[in-house]
Amino acid sequence: MNWITNYVRPRINSLFSRREVPENLWSKCPECGTMLFHRELAENLNVCTNCDHHMQISPRERFAALFDGGAFVEVKVPEPIADPLQFRDQKKYPERMKAAQKSTGEKEAMLVAEGDIGRTPIIAAAQDFSFMAGSMGMYVGNAIIAAAERAVKTNRPLVLFSAAGGARMQEGILSLMQMPRTTVAVEMLREAGLPYIVVLTHPTTGGVTASYAMLGDIQISEPNALICFAGPRVIEQTIREKLPEGFQRAEYLLEHGMLDRVTHRKDLRDELISVLRMLGNLPAPTKGDLPAPTPEELAAAAVPAEPAKAEAPAKTGG
Ligand SMILES: [Zn+2]
Repeated sequence: MNWITNYVRPRINSLFSRREVPENLWSKCPECGTMLFHRELAENLNVCTNCDHHMQISPRERFAALFDGGAFVEVKVPEPIADPLQFRDQKKYPERMKAAQKSTGEKEAMLVAEGDIGRTPIIAAAQDFSFMAGSMGMYVGNAIIAAAERAVKTNRPLVLFSAAGGARMQEGILSLMQMPRTTVAVEMLREAGLPYIVVLTHPTTGGVTASYAMLGDIQISEPNALICFAGPRVIEQTIREKLPEGFQRAEYLLEHGMLDRVTHRKDLRDELISVLRMLGNLPAPTKGDLPAPTPEELAAAAVPAEPAKAEAPAKTGG
């Protein structure tokens, strides 16, 4: 034993092994318990290769798989005032925000982007369940309004991917105000004659299902997604009755007329392209692999991002 075996070798080993860690990560499917190789899972769009369970996927990963060549431009979202109620439970609200930002690498619970899918220009917004359970606060409200305004300005349809535990309680009444605000945003699209398509993902619950997530011209859901205002456990305790099998799951809601489609994540892109082109009176989509757009084509198609507007903080409340 000397300083080489005690000190130098462990340091060298740790230097080399550290890089391998992300490659060796395994995730466990919450539905069937199968251990899934993380890279294989990512290639399969976070759908379990054994039981087809649709796990959460981050907005950025979703957009990378959705847009042609994975290319999209982020739409700027006006920032609301931080922590308006000075809210504190076990932790202060700003501390919870910082932790969520650190673990997800995102600023907030919704990402808005513009780009082409199947050569069809769209605006897309996706909610991030891993960011404070995708809760709808003032930022999410601002994001949906920014997405709708951008859609109207560029004459593009809006596709929204929802995933939420409900309203953000740390913002109290201000988070509930986002229900009417986002409803007005959807109304803007309707007045402009632009399609608004909602893709509900597991789980979409609470105030989100009482506003923008249920107002789509076409309502699509991923398989077995839980979609509800109050969860099954709460209802069961309230009415003291056993609920039917699969209650409030996508397939049940489809059968009962709440949804138009339940679509596997792998088929979702093709389906969105077909629907969008049909609604937009465009020629039918070209099936098969199109050559990736050239940098010149991408540059020509990109609309310059809007200069950031100074938003009065008071506006975010209503
Ligand atoms: Zn599984």
